[in-house]
Amino acid sequence: MTTIFAKIVSGELPSKMVYQDELVTAFRDINPIAPTHILIVSNKIIPTVNDLTEDDEKITGRMMTVAKKLAEEEGIAESGYRLIINCNGHGGQEVFHLHMHLVGGRPLGPMLYHQK
Ligand code: 5GP
Repeated sequence: MTTIFAKIVSGELPSKMVYQDELVTAFRDINPIAPTHILIVSNKIIPTVNDLTEDDEKITGRMMTVAKKLAEEEGIAESGYRLIINCNGHGGQEVFHLHMHLVGGRPLGPMLYHQK
């Protein structure tokens, strides 16, 4: 089993990559919703947050520290940003390969809207 993100991680598909190590890879989202929109992806194929185990805690921890580092590099650490992980249908997940969105560079508004 492979995913479009696994092909980006391996270099088989092109991307605007901004970071890679032995656990995670980060690249710019193809359809950005803000001036900074980076995806931080596990190198290992983990479909959703539901599939995580304690053995993956090094990966999820690295995703957070890489997000912090990239936010600093993007110059958005002080202005602020949002980290998002979508899960399954109600979460709006489109690509079933664990990834965190790092979004910033403009005011992002409230996190969610109340349903009328
Ligand atoms: P999700 O909805 O699964 O949390 O987010 C998937 C994200 O992946 C979307 O923001 C979408 O724009 C991005 N995306 C989908 N395909 C590609 C691709 O081939 N390259 C890049 N760089 N981003 C992609």
